[in-house]
Amino acid sequence: MSITVLPKELSELIAAGEVIERPASVIKELVENSIDAGASRITVEIRNGGSVYMRITDDGCGIAPEEVPTAFLRHATSKILEKADLDNIHTLGFRGEALASVAAVGRVEMLTKQAGAEYGVRYQIEGGTECGMERTGCPEGTTIVIRDLFFNVPARQKFLKKDVTESNAVSAIVQKIALSHPEIAFTLIRDHRREFHAAGDGTLYSAIYAVYGRSFAQDLLPVSYSENGISLEGYVIKPLYAKNNRSLQTFFINGRYVKSVTCSVALEEAYRTLVMTGKFPACVLMLTVPPETVDVNVHPAKAAVRFTDEKRVSSAVFFGVKNALMQNGLIYEFQMRP
Ligand code: ADP
Ligand code: MG
Repeated sequence: MSITVLPKELSELIAAGEVIERPASVIKELVENSIDAGASRITVEIRNGGSVYMRITDDGCGIAPEEVPTAFLRHATSKILEKADLDNIHTLGFRGEALASVAAVGRVEMLTKQAGAEYGVRYQIEGGTECGMERTGCPEGTTIVIRDLFFNVPARQKFLKKDVTESNAVSAIVQKIALSHPEIAFTLIRDHRREFHAAGDGTLYSAIYAVYGRSFAQDLLPVSYSENGISLEGYVIKPLYAKNNRSLQTFFINGRYVKSVTCSVALEEAYRTLVMTGKFPACVLMLTVPPETVDVNVHPAKAAVRFTDEKRVSSAVFFGVKNALMQNGLIYEFQMRP
């Protein structure tokens, strides 16, 4: 076969597949956009696992009417301008890929209005093809509705799991994000029922209470620690209430939810001898590290991070957690050093 450059529609679909695997990845990207837009309330609604219908509403800054079509172009972003910005990222997004990707594989409708603007716009784009833009009256902020995810990629559709599994994945993502932003009010509506509502009063504890319920919240110990420029705030579970798996180990680095083996290992190391084999500590821990010591530019889904100094991070988690356990009389000082 001879070598040809792929037509734009095809390369768009391939690129979209990198960012969007399932409804939960759409929700993650769009909720992060709402946060970057400075929203103080975010409502997520999904039906039938999300592939049929998803809606994200925020009261953030909105988008200027003339910039809406640009926002849907690949690599279009308001968050970075030049190479140097990559080393100092303060927003959750920066790749300018989410809206383009969602628009490539779904039927998207956006309503958006900037604060103080006279009118907003309704913009529609389906499978990468623009199909309508009009002025409209709407509340300040942005609402995005996505219908029929992967309607044009049957192969992807086949990989979607049962509705309940996809819905659970969406819930898990919205939960983590709600925990990482206790100052934002989050509501998740799943098949017409409200699954949780976090009031956004600013405290991590009430976010945990809203998301995981009272009994989990009651079994926690506070953590507050800092060492070597890394600070650690949050909660860990009392050893007696350790869980059967790691799904309740939640780590945030500079406000971003991450999966970090380094952090999990350090956490579990701190609980060694306190929990039985096969049991795992749960936590919600917020790490603040100097931005230049963490690389979030590892994968489009951005759940992975790389630290310039793994040891420093692991030590902060280990001693921060040990300290909390010690202050609550669960271990003694001489057990601090491994
Ligand atoms: P990125 O978040 O990486 O910049 P996206 O494709 O997710 O890329 O979004 C493109 C741009 O559209 C953003 O940079 C932002 O300016 C704008 N945008 C997207 N979602 C929202 C929103 N909910 N509120 C305000 N602006 C938004
Ligand atoms: Mg984004």
